[in-house]
Amino acid sequence: MLFILAIDPLQRILDLATQHGILTPLPLTAAKLRTSLYADAAAIFVNPTRDQLQSVKQILHAFGAATGLTINFEKSSVHPIRCENVDLRDKGQLLNRAGRLTLITSVLSFMPTYHLTIFPLSKWARNQIDKVRRSYLWKGKDNANGGHCLDNWPTVSRPKDLGGLGVLDLEKFGRALKLRWLWQEWTYDSKPWGGLQVPRNTYDRLLFQASTYVTVGNGAKAKFWRDAWLDGEAPYNLAPHLFALVKRKNRSMLQELTNTTWIKPLRRKIIMTVQIEEFVSLWIRLQQVHLQPGVEDTITWRWTSDGIYSSKSAYRAQFIGFYCGYKPGLIWRAKAENKRKRGWPHQMSCTMCNGPMESGLHLCLTCPFAQEVWNLILAWENMSLPQQAAPTNATGLGEWWKRTETFFPKTHRRDFNSIVIYTWWNIWKEWNRRVFLALLVLSAPGSGAYQGKSFSL
Ligand SMILES: [Zn+2]
Repeated sequence: MLFILAIDPLQRILDLATQHGILTPLPLTAAKLRTSLYADAAAIFVNPTRDQLQSVKQILHAFGAATGLTINFEKSSVHPIRCENVDLRDKGQLLNRAGRLTLITSVLSFMPTYHLTIFPLSKWARNQIDKVRRSYLWKGKDNANGGHCLDNWPTVSRPKDLGGLGVLDLEKFGRALKLRWLWQEWTYDSKPWGGLQVPRNTYDRLLFQASTYVTVGNGAKAKFWRDAWLDGEAPYNLAPHLFALVKRKNRSMLQELTNTTWIKPLRRKIIMTVQIEEFVSLWIRLQQVHLQPGVEDTITWRWTSDGIYSSKSAYRAQFIGFYCGYKPGLIWRAKAENKRKRGWPHQMSCTMCNGPMESGLHLCLTCPFAQEVWNLILAWENMSLPQQAAPTNATGLGEWWKRTETFFPKTHRRDFNSIVIYTWWNIWKEWNRRVFLALLVLSAPGSGAYQGKSFSL
């Protein structure tokens, strides 16, 4: 609240600094404000040079000293916007390590909504974030390589019902959020950023056109060529060859339809048959269009039932055309542990020792059969397990493995781990043979030997 009260004076100070030449004016004359608030974060727009940033830093210091609202520079960062043609290293290394780190961690820690709404995420940053997310997903660490990944990333980042794991695709999510600007440009043109150039590229614009249709009123807002107002389509799509001839492509319907102004720039330029066809077809369709003075143009979002933009639907729309070769709902809703409840046939007791219901711990460690296998294998390897490694008080296999490993010197841990994997894998295979193939290997080596022999685990 305090900050909201103080933002006006700050804006005033920045204006004064601009008047006195300490800050250079922003290149966009339409930009009315240098500051913008979002939740408890503030953004200040400055030209990308070292002097300008130093000046802003000093102003913020002074502002903090005067008002008590000290700025935490540890938590502040600088991000370039629309600096594609500016050499940032040359211009004062705006993206320092802290800034880069902030960008990545904030994107990773909480949903990256705020950053992605404003800053287009460059490809290298997205790749880095994806690398971390991918490693985390497959390995729980940050250094997984290709061999650890169980499926490719584009598949993983599909929604679940389209065969993916529902991990957010940052590129598509960023685009969905950018469309919000285009939507707000249409629907709330009185917001402070009105007149600022909205961050977007051709693909964003095309997706926006495909996602909306315009109902024409007085024609003041709808763009003649670019908006989808002619039976849900944009003249730009209906007559692409004519559109290529037009120089001023962003004029409103009112401007272009009054006295059929739209025809003027096409005069003496239409020479190809396809252009004549497009012209005649568009001209005929325009005969049905009548502007209604006093009625505002409105826009409708195609992907929601209420016709209003939502980032979720904008994200989802980018998966139109994707399909899944199986019924993913069956997998995501299936429950593996219900066999017994449903009365399906299942194994009630341990197939190895006829003992109680098996668990991972029983199957791999405490079952007498497993114990004998362990004894044999340890004997072959001239190894033994210390008394403390008794599996009885372990809660699970993972815990037992982790704890027992520490009893071995580092030089032997690799051997021990190999034995664990090898032994468990073969016990598991034997269990499967017995359950699914109903095979009992009576003459297995050592099968007669385990009676009377104590287990050293
Ligand atoms: Zn058993």
